[in-house]
Amino acid sequence: MTSMIIAIDGPSGAGKSTLGRMIAREFNLLYIDTGAMYRAVALAVTESGVSTSDRAAVAEVTGRAVINLRGDPDSLRVMLDGRDVSDEIRSERIGHTASVVSAIPEVRRELVRRQREMGARSGGVVLDGRDIGTVVFPAAAVKFFLTAVPEARAKRRYDEERVKAQEHTFEDTLADINARDRRDSTRADSPLAIAEDAVVIDTTELSIEDVFARMVDVIRDRQQAGGQNMSL
Ligand code: C5P
Repeated sequence: MTSMIIAIDGPSGAGKSTLGRMIAREFNLLYIDTGAMYRAVALAVTESGVSTSDRAAVAEVTGRAVINLRGDPDSLRVMLDGRDVSDEIRSERIGHTASVVSAIPEVRRELVRRQREMGARSGGVVLDGRDIGTVVFPAAAVKFFLTAVPEARAKRRYDEERVKAQEHTFEDTLADINARDRRDSTRADSPLAIAEDAVVIDTTELSIEDVFARMVDVIRDRQQAGGQNMSL
């Protein structure tokens, strides 16, 4: 029996992490937020003072960074070199730097390697990111691609962040989402792309509960179709 790998890809603000956590909880799987790993690298690079255009230095900082994800899906803590950086990595500045350093092939290679290791060690895992179904686990049992129009994604992000970053307007958030979409989709190495066999869900008009119900249906169908080869 093989353990189940569920890939959730899509652009920023499509609901991947909320749904990834819910799915992990529902099926009792490990949850890996790969965006948090790129964010942790971005923080390490920022703190080390190296320029994001110095590829070799960024690669070295990445190789040295000890990144751990701890705790349940609902209370996931992100540790960088033993320090809890869960809140720090959520700023827009770090999100921006993450999208810059994630275009560097050496950074991707290193984090993809770690994600594969984490996935292989677990009894079943949900990963959310940009390249899970296309690059990290192309043989994942179930692949989702969640998307939504940029305005809806910006609104969700803005509502989430408003408390923390009052200096930002909705227009700033929308501009940031559009810039990140562009960077994530046009980078040469592993651009954001829909895997051929992904189930695409446009979440623009759907509630979280609706999306969750659809995803659960797909997973249960696959489990039944896969029979004994798919354990959870
Ligand atoms: O999902 P989140 O916004 O936390 O990700 C931060 C950035 O990390 C994204 O904008 C993207 O550029 C990058 N990323 C990536 N590949 C992943 C996950 C995130 O390139 N698997």
